[in-house]
Amino acid sequence: MAAPPVSAQPNLHRRLLCLDTHLDTPSSLARPGWDMMQRHNRDQDFTQVDQPRMVEGGLDGGFFAIYTPQGPLTPDGMAAARDAATLRAVAIRELVAAHPRQFELAFAADDAARIAASGKRIVYQSIENAYPLGEDIGLLNLFYKLGVRMLGLIHFRNNQFGDSATDKPQWIGLSPKGRELAVLGNDLGMVLDASHASDAVFDQLMEISRAPIILSHSGCRAVFDHPRNIDDERIKKLAAKGSTIQINSYNSYLINVPPNPDRDKARAALGQKMRNLAGLTAAQRDTVMRDVAQGRKEIEARYPEPRATFDMYMSHVTHALDLVGPDHVGVGCDWDGGGGVTGMEDVAAIPKITERLVKLGYTENQLAGFWGGNALRVLKAAHEARKTAA
Ligand SMILES: [Zn+2]
Repeated sequence: MAAPPVSAQPNLHRRLLCLDTHLDTPSSLARPGWDMMQRHNRDQDFTQVDQPRMVEGGLDGGFFAIYTPQGPLTPDGMAAARDAATLRAVAIRELVAAHPRQFELAFAADDAARIAASGKRIVYQSIENAYPLGEDIGLLNLFYKLGVRMLGLIHFRNNQFGDSATDKPQWIGLSPKGRELAVLGNDLGMVLDASHASDAVFDQLMEISRAPIILSHSGCRAVFDHPRNIDDERIKKLAAKGSTIQINSYNSYLINVPPNPDRDKARAALGQKMRNLAGLTAAQRDTVMRDVAQGRKEIEARYPEPRATFDMYMSHVTHALDLVGPDHVGVGCDWDGGGGVTGMEDVAAIPKITERLVKLGYTENQLAGFWGGNALRVLKAAHEARKTAA
């Protein structure tokens, strides 16, 4: 079919309800002095999402992740993780409470269109890593009540619930507790998210779950062979259950990045500087951030890292689209969590995705699914499969 002229495309993108199913932006909210309502610059403070850039990029909202790094599987480690995750959920609520004309919490699939029509950004919540639930999966009930509607059980390392895609198999899939957690997630009506989980966990979740599971931010292994990406057979199975793969823009899942311990060490030292911002004046914080930005540039010059391009990102998108069609693919760019490619550095740049897909002949209806409808369909199906009181 003929594509509309390029000049018409920005308007088309604006008309679409656009969601990203994996925003790590809550990590910015915890930064002292950081303001979601100000336009920031990735080169200065490494963030990729704020309200002005969401508006600029036409991103109506998405799933704001309550992410907890994997720590020790000890009572102390789990208690610290529980507190961190709870505070992150509070920070998301505080964001919405502080800016009620710009943001609104969303809980059900139908909320999205209503909130978008009011001109506000849509804030769904997800859990990335269920480690903070510790030994008490009943805590998931609390997170559900706080509004969490998507549950990623595992992160970079194995945890008490199962195996990670990027760790050695320990449970051969889900642990017994992980199976219980998946059932509870289903019962509550949460979408189970297999991004970061091992292939065996993906298979077992597909088997256990009454509702379609999702890949909230993953890529295609056929395009780039990395354990965090997923093979074609599994993408097809996911689609056959009515679900969607939301394509990630995380650099080292798109391109081969040889390990460089010196670079990691230098970056960790810089990260440490940013951890000590609390208690500083605004002027002192600015100085630290300028130093850190300069330090980041020096590290990049000294230990250059191969960087994926927008075309490489799009090759994952188009591979999935060719494989399973536009009803089963979407966007989960991992903004503020390591996402972004040369040519699409922050959320303001996402109209480029629409522009490319229009050129490839995708219709507005198909793009509406790709940008939000598909994920909302999965959210709705999870809700409908919940356990209701007898
Ligand atoms: Zn992630």
